[in-house]
This record gives sequence, C-alpha cells and structure tokens, in this order.
Amino acid sequence: MGEIGWRITCAAIIVIFRVVRRRYRARWRSTHADAAVRRIDTKEKVLLGLTTLIGMGLCLLWLVTPWLDRAALGLPAAARVAGAVISAGGILLLAWVHRTLGDNWSPSLEVRRGHELVDRGPYALVRHPMYTAIGAVILGYGLTSSNAIVLFVSPIPFFTLVAVRMVTEERLLLEQFGETYRAYMRRTKRLVPFVV
Ligand code: SAH
Repeated sequence: MGEIGWRITCAAIIVIFRVVRRRYRARWRSTHADAAVRRIDTKEKVLLGLTTLIGMGLCLLWLVTPWLDRAALGLPAAARVAGAVISAGGILLLAWVHRTLGDNWSPSLEVRRGHELVDRGPYALVRHPMYTAIGAVILGYGLTSSNAIVLFVSPIPFFTLVAVRMVTEERLLLEQFGETYRAYMRRTKRLVPFVV
C-alpha cells in the first residue's frame, strides 16, 4: 500500500471514532445543563481542551501536511497494519463502553442526577475502559502513521491527562458511592486487567 493508503486508513480511524462518539455527545449535550449534581470544573475542562488540541492537532498535521514527514520511521507494513487493527479494536471497545455507561457518561468529570455505579460489561474488567479504548486508538494511529512525532509525542498529553484524571475521578466516585466504590476498586485494575 502506498503512503496515501496509510493516510486514508488514518483518516478513516478519526472519522469512525467521531461517528461512534457523536450520538453520545449529542445526548449528553441535551441533558447536561440540569443533570449534573457534582462536577469538577474549569481547570479540568481547560486541560481536556488543551490535550485534545495538541494530541489531535499533531495527528491532523501529519495527516494533511508534509511538515512532519522528516520524522518518518519507515516501519514495515506489518507494523502499520497492526496499528490499524489496534485502533479498530479500540473503537469497538469504545462503542461497548459507551453502550454500557449510557447516560452516566460525560466529557468532563461529574456525578449526574440518578448516577448509577456501573460495574458490568467492560467495567467488570477495569475501572477506566474508555481511557484504555482511546489510548489504544491513539497508539494504533501512531503505528499506522509510522511517524515518530505522531507515535511518541502526540500520545503524551492524553496519557498525562488520564494519569491525573483517574485520581480525581476516583476521588469523586468514592465521595459519591463510598464503600461500594471502594469494594469495586479492590476487585479491578484501572486500565489493563490484572496488570495496571
Ligand atoms: N473513566 C471511565 C469513564 C470516563 S467518562 C472510563 O475510562 O471508562 C467520565 C465520567 O464517567 C465521569 O464523570 C464519572 O463520573 C463517570 N464514571 C466513571 N466510572 C464510572 C462507573 N464505574 N460508573 C458510573 N460512572 C462512572
């Protein structure tokens, strides 16, 4: 496959990711104004915005301009195909997570009216499967791009945010669900079952 084919693959990853996300985002937008009971605001939102801007910005820059081409890695086709497979897996996991989490999802951290603690489906395996899913999409995209900046630099903002956010998020959920969440923490890992 020529270089253009890899770029089309990466464009498809972004488009399909956004299609999966769109419906849940629209649903959240139509209800969030009066549904949030507790939320962690401003600073977290600014961080989230910056993360998306920098991470996504680099991915798009590689996709539509030649400016990052000096960082091309020349990875073998097998590695780039593996990247696409990892991204596809991440998107499938994301769809499963969204279906399971339903209206308990929000782009910024909040506890909503009638918030339910979800511990089934992907949440029976790990506490933050959505971050696992998005991380897989980002790393897969990096492999398929075969570009050092996309592969090694563009994931940094996301994984930094997630490292900080998981702590805040778990504090919020502990405040809300107390012993139930503590017990859930004892029987699950954060991102990868049995590992971390
Ligand atoms: N960190 C989770 C969810 C990300 S969405 C994941 O990676 O899958 C962020 C929102 O999900 C937060 O507002 C939080 O209140 C909510 N949330 C996180 N874990 C939850 C759970 N187990 N049950 C219900 N809501 C949860």
